[in-house]
Amino acid sequence: MDKQYIYADNAATTRVSDSVMNAMMPWFQENFANPSGLYSLATASVKAIRQARADIAKCLGAEPGEVFFTSCGTEADNWAIKSAVELTGRKRIITSKLEHHAVLKTCEYLKAKGCEITYLPCPENGIIEPEDLRKAIGNDVAVVSIMLANNEIGTIQRVSEMAEICHEYGVLIHTDAVQAVGNIPVDFKALGVDMLSLSGHKIHAPKGVGALIVRNGINLPSFIHGGKQEVGKRAGTENVPYIMGLRQAILDATTDIQKRSEYVLSLRERLVDGLLKIEKTRLNGDRNSRLPGNANISFYGIEGESLALLLDMKSICVSSGSACTTGDTEPSHVLKAIGMTDEWAKGALRITLSEDNTIEDVDYIVEMIAEIVEKLRASSTLWKKTAL
Ligand SMILES: *Cc1c(COP(=O)(O)O)cnc(C)c1O
Repeated sequence: MDKQYIYADNAATTRVSDSVMNAMMPWFQENFANPSGLYSLATASVKAIRQARADIAKCLGAEPGEVFFTSCGTEADNWAIKSAVELTGRKRIITSKLEHHAVLKTCEYLKAKGCEITYLPCPENGIIEPEDLRKAIGNDVAVVSIMLANNEIGTIQRVSEMAEICHEYGVLIHTDAVQAVGNIPVDFKALGVDMLSLSGHKIHAPKGVGALIVRNGINLPSFIHGGKQEVGKRAGTENVPYIMGLRQAILDATTDIQKRSEYVLSLRERLVDGLLKIEKTRLNGDRNSRLPGNANISFYGIEGESLALLLDMKSICVSSGSACTTGDTEPSHVLKAIGMTDEWAKGALRITLSEDNTIEDVDYIVEMIAEIVEKLRASSTLWKKTAL
């Protein structure tokens, strides 16, 4: 193989693309001025940010004034939820145990400050029933935060139906769309949500840039106090190169999204079919309503962690559970939330493909996994017990 490694952990982060690199470069050394400056060099920076805001809004079905740049997806999630509590003065938040830690830990923080958190039930397929939201909602709720697509099992939530329910009750709804933007069509207006978080580094822009889209008319409190950037709501000198990188990444990701996602889906289906041929193996989360590149598969009787480490020795980069939980041996909170037993959850491996992957990559991954799983099972007491 001429590649040094096969990268199949695109839900953790992605490689910065050439077009994004090219879009960022002029803003480091040529047009480096602080947008707040009075000279024409600064005007270029101001125009760039304005263009980025307009283009991102257009790609995602929003208005330019609805786009606020942040330093990352985590910041956008924190801002949305904390500010919704502050804005409404209400003390209850509805979310789910499937959420990213950026949402879950923010809710736990607010719980310590006196908020009540309601977690919606999570069925085994990883898709929340909007009717369960109807049962839980009330006019005491500050915000509902449900992710559009899950980072571990890739399942896609019925967010637009949930938005309708929220608006019947006059409740704000936020969605973490970090994994969704660029992988499935996302239209802010059509979704009907009030706030939407996104991040650059999951879609071939660099780490350290994201955005919160906030529906016009919602006067979200400021999150970072200081200068007048982002109409004073998120102060701090704008990261012009990264904002231009985010713009390019979103333009690239939303152009030809159908063709790209069909290609990635065909790779994913080949991968899943190949891996499910291994005995006592299962796909976690719904097979159809999930991100095209996501395969989360459990191999009974072994530890996903060991499998991932041995795959690294074959130059394959994949994840066991989610990147944020790697390093501790607790099964993933998402797999627990969908009711998996510890034995099955511990054997989980997350493989997330992108358009940079090939059929050859997939076939090599399947071959190596089959080989390693067999070896690991040969020395697994859990596996031997099951075989008896
Ligand atoms: C990666 C990720 C985040 C965090 O984004 P950062 O830009 O890394 O802070 C939040 N939510 C989901 C679903 C993610 O996958």
